[in-house]
Amino acid sequence: MHRARFPKLKTFEAFDFDFQPGLNRMEILDLKHLGFMTQSENIVFIGSPGVGKTHLATALGVAACRQGKRTLFINCHELLLRLRTAYDKGTLERVLRRYARYELLIIDEIGYLPIERQEADLIFQLLNMRYEKRSTIFTTNIALSGWGELFKSPETAAAILDRIVHHAKIYKITGRSYRLKRDPSA
Ligand code: ADP
Ligand code: MG
Repeated sequence: MHRARFPKLKTFEAFDFDFQPGLNRMEILDLKHLGFMTQSENIVFIGSPGVGKTHLATALGVAACRQGKRTLFINCHELLLRLRTAYDKGTLERVLRRYARYELLIIDEIGYLPIERQEADLIFQLLNMRYEKRSTIFTTNIALSGWGELFKSPETAAAILDRIVHHAKIYKITGRSYRLKRDPSA
């Protein structure tokens, strides 16, 4: 659990499904059994800030750790920085292999900051290595249709999306921000 580097521990027990009625509670709770991992499926949580994407991704990571799965939670931009640094130092192959080996990789906050073309290529290489072998969970505030622009290359974005969504469960969370919960007008 410590090695997975969750920014904050979150659980399904602490998730208020009544606040997010668009989510199918049974379906989300069933993810805890990690059937998606035995199929090497990916999970994508899409939605605006505060709707619980990181909470749910973390809760799944915690469930995976409890079942002995090697898990890493990493912010998208930290991951990109690490891959870029490895590229510059000539250690990209080794670092890619390390990230490819995690049984569950959680990449948080795709789209909050711009992504350079070279970074898009690096992330493609990683996802290609994990494709159909290991599950990855993504959280993003950008609809998949906007990823071409995000990655500054429709071709790279298409290649990335192709690997992600071929075997994936995609959850769009459309409710209000939980951070603004106390203000019903927000
Ligand atoms: P996002 O990643 O979508 O921006 P977070 O998952 O970080 O949002 O949620 C913001 C805060 O609100 C966190 O402290 C999270 O635990 C809490 N939160 C969000 N949705 C819920 C919910 N439905 N029930 C309980 N807590 C929630
Ligand atoms: Mg978040």
